[in-house]
Amino acid sequence: MVSHTALASDKNESIYEERIALYKKTEAITQIPWYYIAAIDQYERQIHYKDSEDPLVSIKIPAEKWYGIGNINHIQDVNIINLFNGLGKDGNGNNKADATHPEDVLYTLATYLLQYGPTEEDILIALWDYYQRDLTVQTIKNTAKVFKTFDDINLTDRDFPVSIQHNYTYRSTWGAGRGFGGARIHEGTDIFASYGTPVKSTTYGVVELKGWNLYGGWRIGIRDIYNIYHYYAHLNGYADGIKVGQVVKPGDVIGSVGSTGYGPPGTAGKFPPHLHYGMYKDNGHSEWSFDPYPFLRKWERMAKDKR
Ligand SMILES: [Zn+2]
Repeated sequence: MVSHTALASDKNESIYEERIALYKKTEAITQIPWYYIAAIDQYERQIHYKDSEDPLVSIKIPAEKWYGIGNINHIQDVNIINLFNGLGKDGNGNNKADATHPEDVLYTLATYLLQYGPTEEDILIALWDYYQRDLTVQTIKNTAKVFKTFDDINLTDRDFPVSIQHNYTYRSTWGAGRGFGGARIHEGTDIFASYGTPVKSTTYGVVELKGWNLYGGWRIGIRDIYNIYHYYAHLNGYADGIKVGQVVKPGDVIGSVGSTGYGPPGTAGKFPPHLHYGMYKDNGHSEWSFDPYPFLRKWERMAKDKR
């Protein structure tokens, strides 16, 4: 159900190099920044494929868009596609637009984006017209920002969200009932630690949300490059300078453990201090929460191995 790509650190490294080369080649021809092409490809990889499948390029342009609505026989000749107002273009010089060929797909997508103009604002408008979904555009925008910041797409490092130098305890509490606020299930893992224990980003991503919430208290939300939203709640406070739109990497301190929440802004101490950590996956249509516990166990081992 949930892609374990987010955990893969032993993946064949060369596929990243091959992808980067294709993205940069597409940028050289179209001027669309490589990290936007990469972010769209990354987004669609999470939507279309399981982690066992790892195609070079994952973007699937729907047939009616690619060939044009009247081109019912899916003729690949670029002149015919053009006649039917299809998007399909020839990226590898064989005069055919093949919807399964990586170079044709990337060149077609970049050419489509370029119709709107080369600036980031133009690209975002083009993406909205193409996907018609705010969260999709937001996710691609965030991922592009991460890829640009680190000048890399091979970003598989992870960290445990609570400093392992400090005392903490946690266990699997997925789906357990909770007292306050009615019959909601517990969507996350509680990591108990003392007030002020550093809370860290588990992943590469962008801060998408920060502020007070009735149940979550002072909380922060980070969207990663695998269409996963990471939710940190009940914080004592935030790290200096943390703001919405900021790029983070695994291990960056984002705040500290507290007991805020279950009341108006500033309410604290209604339960023992802990970090509530939640994970939400977006499948391109809706978002749902899944159990972070197995991931936390893995990241804890990774953090201890590095020590
Ligand atoms: Zn919790």
